[in-house]
Amino acid sequence: MEFLFDMPVRLFAQRDAVEKHREEFGKYGKRCLIVTGHSSAKACGALDDVVRALESQGVEWKLFDQVGQNPLVSVCYEGGRQAAAFGAQFIVGIGGGSPLDAAKAVAAFGADPALTPEGLYQPHRVPALPLLLVGTTAGTGSEVTRFSVLTDDKGHKRSWGNASSYARASFGDPRYTLSLNRPFTLSTGLDAVAHALESYFSVEGDEVSRTFSIMALKLLLPALKEVWLAEAEPSLECRERLYLGSLYGGMAINRTGTAFCHTMGYWLTEKRGIPHGFACAVFLPELIQYAVPLAPEKARRLFGEIGMYAQELCDTIRMLTDAQYEPAGDQELEALLDRWQGVSNMKRTPGNFDREQQRQIARRVLQKKL
Ligand code: NAP
Ligand code: ZN
Repeated sequence: MEFLFDMPVRLFAQRDAVEKHREEFGKYGKRCLIVTGHSSAKACGALDDVVRALESQGVEWKLFDQVGQNPLVSVCYEGGRQAAAFGAQFIVGIGGGSPLDAAKAVAAFGADPALTPEGLYQPHRVPALPLLLVGTTAGTGSEVTRFSVLTDDKGHKRSWGNASSYARASFGDPRYTLSLNRPFTLSTGLDAVAHALESYFSVEGDEVSRTFSIMALKLLLPALKEVWLAEAEPSLECRERLYLGSLYGGMAINRTGTAFCHTMGYWLTEKRGIPHGFACAVFLPELIQYAVPLAPEKARRLFGEIGMYAQELCDTIRMLTDAQYEPAGDQELEALLDRWQGVSNMKRTPGNFDREQQRQIARRVLQKKL
């Protein structure tokens, strides 16, 4: 037996989580900045629930609703300035991964006026205002991880995170995901599948992280098939399984981080506008084909647990993935290979995952003809 489990977030995962635990919103001060995307926090009912909880605790609040998809670090910096000007003592992030990741950065910028956008990415711990997170998509698991993925001023998606970027508490209410449309339901669900699979085969994995991956996949794969096949809107029960699967996926990557599918997929989002989950998912069949021969015992356990063999798993993921894109040029691909050298995600991939191995996979996926 050898494992490490460290997740210093109080997680309330249930229907009506915000309403049932409103006292959590009164624990960190009397002024708060709420960080959201442009409209969905309001539309799905989460913002109204949070405002009611804050007001019930006598907290004054201000809204910062400027966070777009693949959030810019400069927008988070501006959020931090607004938090400081308002005298916010804590931050509440509401949304999918984009606002939740942005809220982690706003909490850091709001705590330290000297912190620069580039300083956020440095490996040392930075202070942060207390943070509460309310999820509205079933995908990133950002509610339970220290990670935050922001787009820098070169247009590159880059992950950061440290011991102070965890939420003090997170609220996972699957009702908020009912308003998510079908493409985002599939894409965010596939993001969670990617977390589970990348973590499962990671060299950093242990018994506990692999168990979370298996629990995630057992929930996510049948529920996503149900979404794909159904003509009607997914039921709340199906949404609940997707949400729980995403939280388990988050718990798995909180131990291991993600692997090459995420690093390689970022380019498809940055340059081709492919949503994050689909962008990672196009690499998953490559991960499965590459990793299974390197870890046959692990693979046997996985396939036994999920009741699918490698080919069926790859076919299912391909069926669920909607990603059409212009192929990358040769020069662009070489520049990407330069960018990927030394990235920790590549080192977590099992085997000798060197530049040549990366080139072969990137060619098959990024230079695939339309
Ligand atoms: P997202 O970018 O947060 O949101 C995608 C879209 O869905 C937005 O238009 C958003 O609208 C809308 N939306 C969100 N919740 C909704 C709801 N309940 N009903 C209707 N529409 C809703 O999507 P995401 O996939 O959750 O997050 C992706 C980001 O997370 C990427 O930047 C990715 O790199 C990052 N990520 C982070 C981690 C981590 O560990 N922290 C892991 C994986 C990925 P609004 O703009 O109005 O909100
Ligand atoms: Zn992801």
